[in-house]
Amino acid sequence: MKKGQNEFAISSDQKVRIKVIKEKCISAGTCIVYAADTFDLDEDGISYVKEGIWDELEKIVMAAKSCPTMAIIVEDMDGKQLWPLE
Ligand code: SF4
Repeated sequence: MKKGQNEFAISSDQKVRIKVIKEKCISAGTCIVYAADTFDLDEDGISYVKEGIWDELEKIVMAAKSCPTMAIIVEDMDGKQLWPLE
C-alpha cells in the first residue's frame, strides 16, 4: 500500500492530512489533473499521496471535489474534515 492509501498522509508543513480510500478509487485520474504534486497513481492505477511538497490546499480540495467516488478525504490537523463536508 502506498502512502495515503487508507491512512492519512500529513503535509510537510503539518497543516493538512489526506487519505485516499483505496477501495473507492476507480482510477479516473482527475485528482492528478488538479493536484499533480499531491496525487499520483500506483502500479494498479489507484491514487496515492506523494512525498514532498504538495499543491496549495485550494488545489487539493478541488482535486478531492473532482473525485467521482468521493475517495479522497482532506482534514486539518484538528480532525476537521475539509472535504467531504460533514
Ligand atoms: S479522482 Fe478519485 S477515483 Fe479518480 S484517481 Fe483520484 S481518487 Fe481515484
